Amino acid sequence: MTTSWIINTSLQVNYIIKNSHEIFNIENNDILSYCPTNRAVVVIDEKVNSLYKNIIENYFTYHKINCRVVIINGIETGKNLDNLIYLLKEIEQFGTSRKSEPIIAIGGGVILDLVGLAATLYRRGIPYIRIPTTLLGIVDVSVAAKTGINFEDRRNRLGSYYPPVASFLDKTFLKTLEEIEISSGLGEIFKMSLIKDNSLFSLLENHGKTLLDTKFNCEHADEVINFAIQGMKEELENNLWEKNLKRIVDFGHSFSPIIEMRSLVNDSVKSLTHGQAVVLDIILSCMVSYDRNLLSHDDVLRVMNTAKNMNLPTYHESFTDPALLLESLQDTTKHRNGDQNLPIPTSIGTTMFVNDLSYNDIVVAAELFSKFNKEING
Ligand code: NAD
Repeated sequence: MTTSWIINTSLQVNYIIKNSHEIFNIENNDILSYCPTNRAVVVIDEKVNSLYKNIIENYFTYHKINCRVVIINGIETGKNLDNLIYLLKEIEQFGTSRKSEPIIAIGGGVILDLVGLAATLYRRGIPYIRIPTTLLGIVDVSVAAKTGINFEDRRNRLGSYYPPVASFLDKTFLKTLEEIEISSGLGEIFKMSLIKDNSLFSLLENHGKTLLDTKFNCEHADEVINFAIQGMKEELENNLWEKNLKRIVDFGHSFSPIIEMRSLVNDSVKSLTHGQAVVLDIILSCMVSYDRNLLSHDDVLRVMNTAKNMNLPTYHESFTDPALLLESLQDTTKHRNGDQNLPIPTSIGTTMFVNDLSYNDIVVAAELFSKFNKEING
């Protein structure tokens, strides 16, 4: 008689990512079909709430949706266990049902990630909706299935793969975003352009500054957002649960995670937003490509000048410290199950993976990083 069984099942996943102009205009019905009981917990980033409180409240009042509004300070250090527990208690007190009362998350990646994790945990999974209000939220978080919080000084150490039922993208929120946050989002678009889309890179090279200056209220803004989302969708869709740890979308995320987290708590170095840290990692990775004769001198200058035009940093002292870079890469390698799987560009718009980067290669890349910075910044 057999004493073992194999459970073999599969999970079909569909979720919509939709451009939804003025999502809180009372004429806009996108959210409504997801709220059949007219009840919802609405989690709003504190700053977003201070800017858009009236319009959001008015929307839910007008549509007679009974809301419990939870305000959370959406800063990176707030993506923590305390806020997760606080949010779960709010959900419990509201008595959210299991299937038909979505948690509506309104904010940047911090709020979206925190809400996603709370939604996974509560009753083993309840629906949630993402309404990103940052550029990074629109082009990156909205597409992915990942949720998470930081833990023990590590980024996203606790988390899950748990997609929302819908992401609604309303770029009118971007008008109030600080310039540094627009350039941070441009950093992720920049990443996508370098690894897979030469024409997106040209758009950034030619219009990056205008996109930044107008906060995406200009010609080419929709085109750039749509290209970035399409690229992200193509990369994530077939590997949503990250079974394959060779992911070109990890470009820019190999050396940066530890450096980004430390920059937030260490007063002696300049603190970095997520997008800034990603771009610095991209530039360092371009040095690896240059060292291997994959990128030309001119290509590297184009990459760095395009970043500069979008007010993204090309230099940060932590990226000149080979020991710290090695430590970061080793931590990333653990996360990639023992393989470096380091994406590097082979040209602008194409990528390969490296698994043999030595400490010496890192020393050379860090030196090139300083040398190229001297060339473009004097
Ligand atoms: P964020 O959520 O930290 O927000 C940045 C700042 O912008 C905050 O101070 C916030 O209050 C403010 N803000 C938000 N919307 C605003 C608006 N419309 N007007 C004015 N101010 C506004 O930053 P982010 O860049 O959106 O997200 C970064 C986070 O996203 C990181 O924690 C990162 O790990 C996570 N992330 C997750 C995924 C994923 O796949 N789940 C992907 C990429 C990044």
